[in-house]
Amino acid sequence: MKTNRLLCRVKCAVWICVATLPPLLAAGTGEVPSGGVSVSLMPSPFAENVKRERMVMMSLEPDNLTWMFRVTAGLDSLSNTNGVLRLGGWEAPSVELRGHTCGHWLSGMANVIHARRNEAPQRLVSLPEERAAAEVVHQLRLCQDAIGTGYVSAFPESFIDRVIARKRVWAPWYTLHKILAGLIDQYTLAGNEEALLVARRFGDWAYARLSPLSENELAQMRHNEFGGIGEALRSLYAITKDPRHAKAADAFDDPTVLDALDRREDAFAPKHCNTYLPKMLADLRKYELFHDDKALGRVTYFFDRALNHHMYAAGCFSDKEHWFRPDTQGAHLTGVTGESCCTYNMLKLARRLFALNPRIETADYIERAIYNHILAQQEPMEGRITYFMPMMTGSYKLRNRANDAFWCCVGSAMESQTGFADYIAQESGNALYVNLFIPSRITWRGFSFELSETTLKCVSAAANASPPVLYVREPRKGYRKVVRAWKPGDEIGVGEKWTFRMETLPDDSSHAALFCGPWLLGGCLGTEGMRRDATRSLNYYEHDYTVPEHLRDISLGDLAKVVPIKEDFDKREYAKERKLAYLNAPVVFQNENGVVLKPLAWINGERWVVYWRVGQ
Ligand SMILES: [Zn+2]
Repeated sequence: MKTNRLLCRVKCAVWICVATLPPLLAAGTGEVPSGGVSVSLMPSPFAENVKRERMVMMSLEPDNLTWMFRVTAGLDSLSNTNGVLRLGGWEAPSVELRGHTCGHWLSGMANVIHARRNEAPQRLVSLPEERAAAEVVHQLRLCQDAIGTGYVSAFPESFIDRVIARKRVWAPWYTLHKILAGLIDQYTLAGNEEALLVARRFGDWAYARLSPLSENELAQMRHNEFGGIGEALRSLYAITKDPRHAKAADAFDDPTVLDALDRREDAFAPKHCNTYLPKMLADLRKYELFHDDKALGRVTYFFDRALNHHMYAAGCFSDKEHWFRPDTQGAHLTGVTGESCCTYNMLKLARRLFALNPRIETADYIERAIYNHILAQQEPMEGRITYFMPMMTGSYKLRNRANDAFWCCVGSAMESQTGFADYIAQESGNALYVNLFIPSRITWRGFSFELSETTLKCVSAAANASPPVLYVREPRKGYRKVVRAWKPGDEIGVGEKWTFRMETLPDDSSHAALFCGPWLLGGCLGTEGMRRDATRSLNYYEHDYTVPEHLRDISLGDLAKVVPIKEDFDKREYAKERKLAYLNAPVVFQNENGVVLKPLAWINGERWVVYWRVGQ
């Protein structure tokens, strides 16, 4: 999150018209239509992350989340909290980004509600998550009614005046995007009609606010970080078919980014990564809704450049939140790499690009980022999350604290940590692509399957259903087409033989990351020199990792001597299949120097190495 230092008062160093319309392809904020595929997680570390994130979200009461909205609407006063817990960090009453968490929370809760309804579609009583979300939506409606213009926010509309006048203010459209997206998700995923009413009136307000502005004024406004408000307004248009909503979205098309992409120039650096990425999501929406081929060309070029020239091994991007020159990752192994919001946005982009054009490279990226960044982002005790994935040797994950952080990445985690099911199997064309081998139940066109790390098994098949066309991913190779008359009990093998592979830094052949199958293996370096409870620091941006000299560069040693040490490990089975189950315990190896290696998700509370010194 790009932050204006002068305006941030939290202690931590936060930096932070359409005449004829083509047919609509999609609804929802960032989501392609599910096309009837339903995926429910079965027990695995991914499902555990969802549970913890749900716990985190349910700990926030509707009154906490909507308090500053009520104050802004004149329905409450700052001095009279009526016992409501005031949120701190970026949600504190003095912080200009306040309100963003409420939007992320609505989206995350929509994911949870959607998943729970998938698991038990016959359930008649409302879920606690539905009741909490409905209360938040209703409070927002009351606030919107009180203001009377359609505007609804935890800060006054004068912030919009300031951003248009290019006066100092911390990203008001960014925050409004989260709220609008949350409302749309509540409507599309959780069926909350009142959320659509609030979103529609908000869209009307946005159009009324933006349409009188000159192109020069809009250009001034776009200097400020505005998140995915353009994407959300286009998604709103997909539902309402009100051309004013599409027109309001156009105000956020940024020629300083799009023109360079039209010229196929990699001019990402030194732009702010997470300001840039939502512009790609909005642009792709333009293709999805209006068949703008230039937009698809831009986004595809961007996506491929990002993956091939800007990505770290964990599927993350950015150093201190900014793009850097292509192929210079080795010069950027710092403690502030890989802002989590950026990976969250890249995954959304990847999922939608995959639906349009199911390429193996896109699915491989999804696996890389889901397994090695998003799963690893959350702490396995209380669900605290990281802002950055630090690639510096000797660094460690810094987690948020419960009520005094509310960073952007705390918010986007509410969505990404509850969204794993969306990435497991995706429909494209007339086929279903099975992409991630995460334990789950998949239902599609009359067939129900159970997916594990190693098998896809038919559980039920409707009579007279025609054989489904499945494409099963073979990681980093391609797809295996499977068309057969499935009967319950039929199964096929899936997954890959787990072998080591190294990824060398493009600008430093003496350092490389090590993968085993889908897992990026980090080395556990212990806690030497770490200050007490260092991993709970709020100062994520300027945190001093105090890395001891001898932990700043770690040798992998002889790769042939990296061996599994899992206690109940069956060596014969490993030799035969090269597959290791992660369900109950992580894959654990050790190198010849005694350094223990694990997937990044299982390295918590201690220093790590991700890029090893290799060779002589
Ligand atoms: Zn963030």
